[in-house]
Amino acid sequence: MFPSLQSNDAMLFCIHSEINEYYLLLRISSLGSCVFVFTPPSREVFCCNNMQYAKNITESIGSTPLIKLNKLVEGIVATVLVKLEYVNPGGSIKDRMALNAINDAEKSGRLKKGNTIIECTGSGNTGIGLAMIAAVRGYKTIFTMPDKNSAEKINLLKAYGAQVVICPTAVAPEDPRSYYKVAEKLAQETPHSFFVQQYSNPSNPNAHYLSTGPEIWEQTEGSIDYFVAGMGTGGTISGTGKYLKEQKKEVKTIGVDPIGSLYYDYYHTKKTVDAAKTYLIEGIGEDFIPGTINFSYIDDVVRVTDKEAYQMARRLAREEGILVGSSSAAAVVGALHVAKRLSEDTIMVVLLPDSGRNYLSKIFNDEWMKEKNLL
Ligand code: PMP
Repeated sequence: MFPSLQSNDAMLFCIHSEINEYYLLLRISSLGSCVFVFTPPSREVFCCNNMQYAKNITESIGSTPLIKLNKLVEGIVATVLVKLEYVNPGGSIKDRMALNAINDAEKSGRLKKGNTIIECTGSGNTGIGLAMIAAVRGYKTIFTMPDKNSAEKINLLKAYGAQVVICPTAVAPEDPRSYYKVAEKLAQETPHSFFVQQYSNPSNPNAHYLSTGPEIWEQTEGSIDYFVAGMGTGGTISGTGKYLKEQKKEVKTIGVDPIGSLYYDYYHTKKTVDAAKTYLIEGIGEDFIPGTINFSYIDDVVRVTDKEAYQMARRLAREEGILVGSSSAAAVVGALHVAKRLSEDTIMVVLLPDSGRNYLSKIFNDEWMKEKNLL
């Protein structure tokens, strides 16, 4: 069997090896042309002819790895795989939605060079994705954020050149001080601005229908049975769930919700019971039902406590070498709870949205963990 090598636009087949230490290769391009190449056996030579690079940072969004959990799955016979979204260049799953929202707005003419992108970014990740793409494409950015976010996240947005407006967490969404309302006002007052509105913009769930879903389907070769994800805007679970269910209707999607958020009660009772309470998990859970969540693609919603999620984040780092944030850890807690009753041949994919590096001063800081009663 001769070795082969895949490059961006061609397959290289080694048809004779080591003639005077040189290799004879057959190069078949994606357009079908064939040439013989006589070359020393070094990767550099392949790269000379088929350089592999992205034209800019936005091209490296997506294609994130799927990793099997090994130690945390004690007593579980199903295969539990986690999809590591922190590998995206902006550090989270929200790069996908930022790219799709900007592409769609450019295509429709709503966003033009030199314009200002405005958004309310609950956990900062949407802002980072938008700011990163804006830097490449020449847009200004202004973001509003709730004050429960870590200092690291606020500084990250500023590092990409964004202007950040911090708003109180503990006010109702319709309160004029809330980060939603402040962003709305800024969008009205700023000329030539594009308000992304990730909570109602269809480009958000579509991003996952177009990229996250197909990636998971291909990576599991269609053998996925369960998809588990936390719900913020609901874009990830709704878009990915729609795609996966269209491929195989038996695929079950499980939403994970922090205690204090509205989703769990809404899903099970169809009522927005009492006013949502604050919780510490960052990036998931809501205090209203956004237009971007589609419950018809969600088969169950499970809930987790702050303590379970924060302790799981520490275990993921120490036992699996996977450093993620609290929403990822919450998804794993929910997933393992469901996986306990699944059979050996079941394949579960759990989506991990961002990195633990954003939370070193919280999750991985003993003082903070003790102060919040999480240890
Ligand atoms: N986790 C983190 C850390 C996030 O930033 C977000 C986005 N708010 C989510 C999970 C939830 O993703 P989605 O908005 O697509 O439901």
